[in-house]
Amino acid sequence: MSFKKANQQPAQTQQGQYSNRLSNHASEADHREFREDEPFFRQILESLEDYAIFTTDLEGHISSWNTGAENLLGYTEEEIIGQDARILFTAGDRQKKAPEKEMAGARKTGSSLDERYHVRKDGSAFFVSGKMFALKDEKGKLRGFTKVMRDITHVKVLQETITQAKAYAESIVDTAREPMLVLYKDFTVNTANRAFYKTFKVNKKDTEGRQLYELGNGQWNIPALKALLEHILPNDSSFNDYEVIQEFEKLGTRTMLLNARKLWRVGNHTEMILLAMEDITERKQADAFKNAFIGIASHELRGPVSSIKGYAQLLGKRAQKAEDKMAAGTLDKINRQTDKLTEIINHLLDISRIQSGKLQLDRVHFDLNSLTSGIIDEMQSETTTHQLIQQGTIPKDVYADKFRIGQVLTNLISNAIKYSPDTSKVMIKLSQDRNKTHGIVTVQDFGIGIPPEDQANLFQAFSRARNGQKKKIQGIGLGLHIAAEIIKEHGGKIWFESKLEEGSVFHFSLPLSA
Ligand code: ADP
Repeated sequence: MSFKKANQQPAQTQQGQYSNRLSNHASEADHREFREDEPFFRQILESLEDYAIFTTDLEGHISSWNTGAENLLGYTEEEIIGQDARILFTAGDRQKKAPEKEMAGARKTGSSLDERYHVRKDGSAFFVSGKMFALKDEKGKLRGFTKVMRDITHVKVLQETITQAKAYAESIVDTAREPMLVLYKDFTVNTANRAFYKTFKVNKKDTEGRQLYELGNGQWNIPALKALLEHILPNDSSFNDYEVIQEFEKLGTRTMLLNARKLWRVGNHTEMILLAMEDITERKQADAFKNAFIGIASHELRGPVSSIKGYAQLLGKRAQKAEDKMAAGTLDKINRQTDKLTEIINHLLDISRIQSGKLQLDRVHFDLNSLTSGIIDEMQSETTTHQLIQQGTIPKDVYADKFRIGQVLTNLISNAIKYSPDTSKVMIKLSQDRNKTHGIVTVQDFGIGIPPEDQANLFQAFSRARNGQKKKIQGIGLGLHIAAEIIKEHGGKIWFESKLEEGSVFHFSLPLSA
């Protein structure tokens, strides 16, 4: 038979054996005639090594077998010719009469298409995309069937991986505690997760397939949200933590944090939007309470502390007059400790103002050079250990809150002094940036420096580097956080460079007056 010349041999030498296995409907001669008719056609079939192509008689006995079939299914031509093609099917498919159904389909319509597992000679299964054609002779008489198979196991594996990944992603979305919606391009709801239904006390029927802006009496019809969502797909963008305070039909007024991003729907390549919401009403209330508490407590503490300071100063003067050195020394210590207490109270007050958005700036145009000189003079008069050296000038005024900028500068200089106990110089440099739009203040010390692993979070509240703590340098880690917030509020920047045991350089910039 064979598409391969060498393999014509068995078909001829073992003619009797094959004839027994072939259908009664067509003689061995018929098959040979059919097989050898078209040498050109066979050459083509042989070249298709990735395709298993074989023919069967009307009952499904294999009558020809190409190299691709040998490669794919593992049987040589000698082994397979005359065998029932059912051996290539899985036991399950044989039971379901899949081979017969395939032949019936091809008989009826000329061809039948299928995707199924087939079995190799070694018993292993592989996934196949196959097509069976009815083979007719010139007179239109059905002579047998041709089957073309292609191994698409890799495609199947890919499909299964995608299906699993999709199910995995969907199960995450569905079990997430945050309410989520998947929206189509036109903002109709494709799916909502369990948390969405639970939080907003709605059901699937009133949600899926409906426009986002119509849900719950238009409770999502928020113009700013609309604008943000409309931006996502055309610009391939996302938005994070967009806060809305909104009246929700069954919940009352709630504060929600919204996050949205573009999603690609695998399979039909549709662009979609994932919208996640987090109800932060309680958290906001707790924060507000905590802030109010810190604010009130620190405000109330200020009065008694300043009275203590006043009395201590009064007694100190008396002790000095009476030349009671011990009492004068102790009262001086009380004085300094009350100063520290006042600083902590002021920091806490600032923190409560920052967190409740009440850090008000009282901006004026002023000369940063003279503010710096004034602060340096004042701090120098109280410092015996360090020399504060001012360099450079800023040629223009800044438009800023003088008191708050003074606070930032004081904090940086006092840190420079505090964290360089074994050196004696602190440099304060004034300059402007390359574009001459910002003034820059730089405070440099040659002290303990900041370990690299502690640098990233240094501007966060209560963040302290370990080396300072190890050396028992006192502090609570609020000064830099407050400084950063003040500078940010002014539209400036604050940053630093530092090397362990070599020192630190802190800078802040402020926009110059026009
Ligand atoms: P505090 O000094 O009260 O701890 P800050 O917020 O002013 O708080 O500073 C935060 C931390 O940053 C400090 O605890 C210290 O570890 C580190 N730090 C700040 N300035 C310097 C500096 N000039 N040199 C070394 N470490 C510094």
